[in-house]
Amino acid sequence: MPPLDNKAEKRLKELENLGRRRAFEPIAREDGALLTMKGKRYISFSCNDYLGLSHHPEVVKAAESALHTYGVGAGASRLVTGSHPLYTELEALMAKEKGTEAACVIGSGYLANISLIPALMGKDDLILADRLVHACIVDGIRLSGAAFFRFGHNDLAQLEKQLKEKRALYRECLILTETVFSMDGDLAPVKAMKELAEQYDATLMTDDAHGFGIIEPEARAHIQMGTFSKAAGGYGGYVCASRKLIDYFTNTARGLIFSTALPPSLVAAAAASVRLMRKHPGLARQALSNARLFAKELGLMQYSAIVPLMLGEDARATQAAEALLKHGFLVRAIRPPAVPEGTARLRFTFSAQHREEDILRLTQAIKDEGLAA
Ligand SMILES: *Cc1c(COP(=O)(O)O)cnc(C)c1O
Repeated sequence: MPPLDNKAEKRLKELENLGRRRAFEPIAREDGALLTMKGKRYISFSCNDYLGLSHHPEVVKAAESALHTYGVGAGASRLVTGSHPLYTELEALMAKEKGTEAACVIGSGYLANISLIPALMGKDDLILADRLVHACIVDGIRLSGAAFFRFGHNDLAQLEKQLKEKRALYRECLILTETVFSMDGDLAPVKAMKELAEQYDATLMTDDAHGFGIIEPEARAHIQMGTFSKAAGGYGGYVCASRKLIDYFTNTARGLIFSTALPPSLVAAAAASVRLMRKHPGLARQALSNARLFAKELGLMQYSAIVPLMLGEDARATQAAEALLKHGFLVRAIRPPAVPEGTARLRFTFSAQHREEDILRLTQAIKDEGLAA
């Protein structure tokens, strides 16, 4: 066997023994919270399409029209010939959304984090990040080569202690957190973090992947990145910041310079989604009130459209997910490495398209299966 096939086989066995080997499953999502898997229909509580915009007729129409005008692909990276006219419009919309001088759209949220962080930070610099930040933030930090320390989740006292002890030893300092934590659904104290950053001559950057379109942050970080793949229902990343920083990213962010621009249809879809979010604020309110109803029924905390049900061991979470499938609900078990060891959970996400009766049937099923605390 070729050496890497050998390695792959061994590693896959290890994962299998841990019950962590995974595979893709073809899933056909429909309008609303419905999907079909292995010929059966389920109500999904695992999509990040919080507002149901992935199938919204105006969004689909905007994509279709751009597809016919500009074609399927962008043809090149943005600095070459890929910067089609739709970008200007979306970037102006995003700067306005986030209250910044400028914005830049980039391939995906993942690509944004692994490109922007290394563009900003290098080996003489210091990065402080919340213990629970997303994998792509950690990858961006590693690529940057900067000194890196984590502070406890939302632990302002520990962040301040690290700033006090370490800030003076480095040139630049970047603090990284998420506005809404992707696996826990709770919120970062952005206002206090920004004050701390300014007090210590540091820059605060937030990842708003799960907040955008759902929850306005209590304060605006110096650099705000995010994605159109969650509440906006499409695909693509963005960063909003000062004109100087955006110009700097245009010249230094490798994922922007060396990767083909987003397809025109996706850029047009994102602009249509952002407009719909503003035109229909009731969509976000509905997603949040659905999450609130679920949490209230089960006595859980709720801060956003994400509500975790903590189960601990991997096997408990996978068994719980299987039990709910039998009731017609798709909820994925979230296990390490996506979350810390011993904190496997079901992560429920709520959409404006869930109906009250679906949520009440779901909470009843959770109680019947003995999963409620
Ligand atoms: C989903 C997610 C990303 C990645 O965004 P994509 O556009 O899907 O690549 C980045 N950060 C967080 C916190 C996310 O949840």
